[in-house]
Amino acid sequence: MSAETMVKTGTMVKVDLKTLISVTADTIAAHADELTALDQAIGDGDHGLNMKRGFEAVRAEAEGFAAKPLPEALKAIGTKLVMTVGGASGPLFGTLFMALGKEISAEPDRANLAMAFGKAIEAVAARGKSQVGQKTMLDVLQPVHEALLQGKTAAEIADVVDRAADATVPMKALRGRASFLGDRSIGHMDAGGRSVALLVRAVVESIEGHA
Ligand code: ADP
Ligand code: MG
Repeated sequence: MSAETMVKTGTMVKVDLKTLISVTADTIAAHADELTALDQAIGDGDHGLNMKRGFEAVRAEAEGFAAKPLPEALKAIGTKLVMTVGGASGPLFGTLFMALGKEISAEPDRANLAMAFGKAIEAVAARGKSQVGQKTMLDVLQPVHEALLQGKTAAEIADVVDRAADATVPMKALRGRASFLGDRSIGHMDAGGRSVALLVRAVVESIEGHA
């Protein structure tokens, strides 16, 4: 079984992994300046470039990734992201995809996807020594896990991630570079959280489009 299956509310939906790679790389490229601006406000302004470099590297090898079974494809994508994104977020996004690949089955149903996503978030939290509420990507990842467990639709999940990214604005950063600013980190959206929202929205909209 090649990595051509994704899941929507328990139903198998055929989505080409190449399409998912293309839509995620497209959304990161289209929003790279915005991600950079967010990171400029409370970080060092490299997040847009970091993510673009990583997702373009994945796009460049999309054919090879898509030929692998889904778990192997996700692990390989994670490894590629670790090598190419850089910054603090590279190892964290890499861990997310690698851990997802370790836990997901070749033909996941909703329950397996939710379980695998939960484990992947735990792996990110362990790697980042971070937890929900500290104004990081975890604050957008965790609501996705909850939405998967609750059986939310693709459209609902797209809404959940946007609201979760917005909800990082009033938070005070307790991890990553933004934490150096203390209270001055309040009032800005977390760049990594925005990236997660963009990626998840692109994936669920792509799945929705194929349902
Ligand atoms: P850097 O901070 O090294 O410049 P990036 O700008 O690429 O790296 O990524 C910053 C993003 O990484 C933050 O917006 C945040 O979402 C995420 N991040 C940073 N540190 C952590 C951490 N310890 N745990 C979880 N996420 C983190
Ligand atoms: Mg940065």
